[in-house]
Amino acid sequence: MHEVDHTKNIIEVNGVSFSYDGRVDVLKDVSLSVHRGDFIGLVGSNGSGKTTLLKLILGILVPKTGSIRLFGEDIAILRDRSRIGYVPQKASSFYLNFPVSVREAVLMGRFGKRGLFHRMKSEDRLFVDDVLARVNMASFADRLVGELSGGQQQRVLIARALACEPEILFLDEPTTGVDQSGENEFYELLRSLNRKLDITLVLVSHDIDRMAREAMHLVCVDQTVKCYLSPEEYFARRGEINEKTL
Ligand code: ADP
Repeated sequence: MHEVDHTKNIIEVNGVSFSYDGRVDVLKDVSLSVHRGDFIGLVGSNGSGKTTLLKLILGILVPKTGSIRLFGEDIAILRDRSRIGYVPQKASSFYLNFPVSVREAVLMGRFGKRGLFHRMKSEDRLFVDDVLARVNMASFADRLVGELSGGQQQRVLIARALACEPEILFLDEPTTGVDQSGENEFYELLRSLNRKLDITLVLVSHDIDRMAREAMHLVCVDQTVKCYLSPEEYFARRGEINEKTL
């Protein structure tokens, strides 16, 4: 049975500020904690700083002030990066344009776990087949990634992130360019990763209504963390939140 472990903070952000140009703060005094097993919807309007916050948590950007800990360790010294999976915004997924097959793309994700100079063994290949089956893409294993639909490519990106067996999966606006039925299937997949595999999910989206239907908790970002809401609280205060809070 899936449960959120309220005794364990898997992500801790403390008093973080950040600016791209050294002058204007894009994020100011952000504090946030995420429990193991949670499914967080990081919501806010365009330009509110959601992607920047995600990149700080991932260690891609370095905070000006404050600290970020993952699994209780400072992100700057976290050695085992394979514990984190990241599905970036589709536009920035350069390899979608490369002539690689679905299986190869997912196998590349396995390097994060095994190291770049590891020779892929049959067990790695079996694992990749298993991951492809999980995201319902087994029958596309030999197809070129660039030839797939938006929803199918999104599944490959998730399979690639899952290939290193992460404990936390970060996703940035993952359903951009995916049609309605693809989107529904996609969220079904996320639910099963969260509930069956106990993977903690942090999903960035500007679609707050959808997030309120999918996530367990909403974190509203506008330069800082404006509020934490349960989906029930959001729906009860929806008009007010849309107009005033975000
Ligand atoms: P969101 O993900 O909520 O849309 P972002 O984190 O992408 O917001 O952007 C927050 C702010 O930081 C915006 O004003 C954006 O223009 C600015 N910004 C984002 N990336 C960069 C960058 N690489 N260089 C300078 N400014 C940036």
